[in-house]
Amino acid sequence: SSSSRVAVVTGANKGIGYAIVKQLADPNLGLQVVLTSRDESRGKQAVAALAAEGLDVLYHPLDITKEPSIDALANWLKDRFQGLDILVNNAGMAYRGDAFNYEVAKNTIDCNYFGTLAVTQKLSPLLREGARVVNVSSRAGKFSRLSPSLREIMFRPDLTISQLSDLMNDFVQSVKEGTWEQKGWPKQTYAVSKMGVTIMTRIFARDEHRPNILYNACCPGYVRTDMTNPNAPLSPEQGAKTPVYLALLPQGGATGGFFADQRQW
Ligand code: NDP
Repeated sequence: SSSSRVAVVTGANKGIGYAIVKQLADPNLGLQVVLTSRDESRGKQAVAALAAEGLDVLYHPLDITKEPSIDALANWLKDRFQGLDILVNNAGMAYRGDAFNYEVAKNTIDCNYFGTLAVTQKLSPLLREGARVVNVSSRAGKFSRLSPSLREIMFRPDLTISQLSDLMNDFVQSVKEGTWEQKGWPKQTYAVSKMGVTIMTRIFARDEHRPNILYNACCPGYVRTDMTNPNAPLSPEQGAKTPVYLALLPQGGATGGFFADQRQW
């Protein structure tokens, strides 16, 4: 119904995102869940699979790298629900193996960092009191892999989103120029993109002045999905646990934190 609390999950046609939708769509929670995906037919198939299990989930397209796509989702949420209560930024990508070049860096940072940033910024005006924003990051984003001076900048308590975005762009540029090592970056684009997601989460939490809106980042663990391999220890259902826990945090819960295994790190 239009009075339900509304949850949006990005990149949810498969993998961890799909499992998050499935858990949030538990009728006992009384949430209206919106499954989103960049490919409409894959997304609608996922919604149909959930419907076959008796779960009532809505669908809307969303490519997190395309501004008009984000705007269309924002407008639809506004018209249909006048707001948003849970946003799970799960969509993300990784190149296989140790591929490391400009194209890899550009595409990975654009999707994982700038895509997550754009979705959060564009949906922010819709967040209602009590809203939860969950960013699926990764423990692969180890800050110990940065030079001490880059690490010091990343953790400055007054770092702004625009400064963080500049750092992410500097990384991409340094890969293009072959200067990443001198500049203190690791040879791991995915890790850098997820450091950006974790720090972004802290900044949004710090700058949020509306009541009871909590932002947290997490690592789902090492999960068997198309991104990883069949030998990863966790099922998508297990990987969804920490993101779902954060999506349902009670009032007074943590904000700006990084969680794994349902606890703060
Ligand atoms: P999958 O590859 O199974 O799923 C990734 C999802 O993101 C897919 O639905 C994919 O859509 C979607 N996606 C990719 N690019 C975009 C885009 N531009 N716009 C919208 N959706 C997009 O991987 P996982 O389920 O494993 O990954 C989910 C999240 O968990 C990611 O953020 C990942 O980095 C993170 N993570 C995963 C770990 C693991 O061990 N699996 C460990 C740590 C973090 P499509 O099907 O169209 O490609």
